[in-house]
Amino acid sequence: MKKLSEILIITIIYFTTFLIVSGYKIQEAGTMMMNQQSGNPYYSHTDTSVLNVPDSVWKKILPADVYAVAREKATEPAFTGKYTDFNGIGTYYCAVCGNRLFRSDAKFASTCGWPSFFEPARKNSVIYESDNSYGMYRIEVLCGRCGSHLGHVFDDGPPPTGKRFCMNSIVLDFVPDDSTSVK
Ligand code: FE
Repeated sequence: MKKLSEILIITIIYFTTFLIVSGYKIQEAGTMMMNQQSGNPYYSHTDTSVLNVPDSVWKKILPADVYAVAREKATEPAFTGKYTDFNGIGTYYCAVCGNRLFRSDAKFASTCGWPSFFEPARKNSVIYESDNSYGMYRIEVLCGRCGSHLGHVFDDGPPPTGKRFCMNSIVLDFVPDDSTSVK
């Protein structure tokens, strides 16, 4: 009788493990499928490893308007971006690599014409570089994972940070909190 219960317990553990592993593999397959569908094998909301992909490769993967901002540092015209006056509750990811960049609760109404945030989602979400172009000194904000140009940061933002991360909508991917799709 004792042996029978041991066999039963082992069987339950075996099948529970099998179901967990199967579920994980199905989710991974879903993520891979989504990446293959979008034609961007580097896009991930979970992989935080730093990418070193040459522009020649990005040019083949990204839409021309995303490439122009992300890799050639173009700026989308003020008041034209899809997230300028957008107030959805959720997370903004890098449109190039899927890196988590900003939470909607750090977004604030700015009159500058571009979506503005007072802090990134986490310390390593973005990196910074000095930008002396156009006769100005500005601090450029780049994706911490893929190095794509996102916008600039200024010191005229609201509390608690006083920063204004002035971003281009086209390099942001917004995912609402109630999204049920596999990411
Ligand atoms: Fe990125």
